[in-house]
Amino acid sequence: MTFVFARVARAAAILATALAMALPLASAPAGAEELAKNLFGSRKLPAATAAKSYGFYSKGCFSGGVAIATDGPTWQAMRLSRNRRWGHPAMINLIEKLSREATADGWPGLLLGDISQPRGGPMLTGHASHQIGLDADIWFTPMPDRRLTAQERENMSATSLVNEKTHLVKNSLWTPAHMRLLRRAASYPEVERILVNPGIKKKLCDTVTGDRSWLRKVRPFWGHDYHFHIRIGCQPGSSGCKKQADTTPGDGCGEPLAWWFTEEPWRPNKNPDAPKARDLMTMASLPKECRAVLNAPAPVSEAAVTVGPGVDAMAVARAEATGATVPEPAQDTAAVAAPESLPLSSFAPTPEMNIPMPRPRPGQ
Ligand SMILES: [Zn+2]
Repeated sequence: MTFVFARVARAAAILATALAMALPLASAPAGAEELAKNLFGSRKLPAATAAKSYGFYSKGCFSGGVAIATDGPTWQAMRLSRNRRWGHPAMINLIEKLSREATADGWPGLLLGDISQPRGGPMLTGHASHQIGLDADIWFTPMPDRRLTAQERENMSATSLVNEKTHLVKNSLWTPAHMRLLRRAASYPEVERILVNPGIKKKLCDTVTGDRSWLRKVRPFWGHDYHFHIRIGCQPGSSGCKKQADTTPGDGCGEPLAWWFTEEPWRPNKNPDAPKARDLMTMASLPKECRAVLNAPAPVSEAAVTVGPGVDAMAVARAEATGATVPEPAQDTAAVAAPESLPLSSFAPTPEMNIPMPRPRPGQ
């Protein structure tokens, strides 16, 4: 009897030890891998290796990232607490160039939304894309003529340019300066797509005169009513970057746009509780190089890889990867002066061409 009791007691003790050891794993079932969004979302600094994007815009990561400074003469970054000012150096250079050249179009400067996390990858909240350092959101709100406080950058609410019932642009808010900003962004060869709300695309279709070829790059998409989304192509040196499909030829103002003004795209989600991709993606879902990106050493400091006005982000990224000294800003960093020919107010109302509302698709 005593013998049996001793055996039971020992078995109970072993069981207790086993349970105690198993406890730290309680949040993840046996064999489960941690979600990639948690791993990438916790990295505060980029991978200090050569600038390369791996995978696709919505499933990948990148190394050699640099951050755009929170402030420049022609930009201010918003929502600083998110730590999403990071991008491939080509993306950061493009944003700096757009901010400077847009002032020549009468746009006072850019408010920058999210670019990427330091090493890209899926995010804890928000975007499905923005994972390989080649996507950036720019607000449609012009930069005010003063520096916003950190608090304002967190809390300032964005203004939607689109009426959510009609999906049409609010005419009181839309101006030719908005059109010129999008046209400037589309003018760069590295920009492959610009995502805007369908109402904004329709406004461009209705009002842009002269060269309309750039409208091909401007694609209608849900959301994007207070910001637009710039996507550049895979960059040289990134053989592991998966190219997106080419945009279809033409200005995109006909049949494909008409679909957006039917009921179909706005139907409520049939399965709102279905898990999102970021809630399922583990490291195994991402290109294998993303493990090395995740575990690569960080640069010495955030400042060492932050790009201010007149600094070539490519040179900063090269210095990051090789441990060299970060280059000095170029001498001539003056903002581009606005040309005389601009209207008195760049935000004067937009003349309408009166193109009728697109018809729903046949059979809808
Ligand atoms: Zn975006």
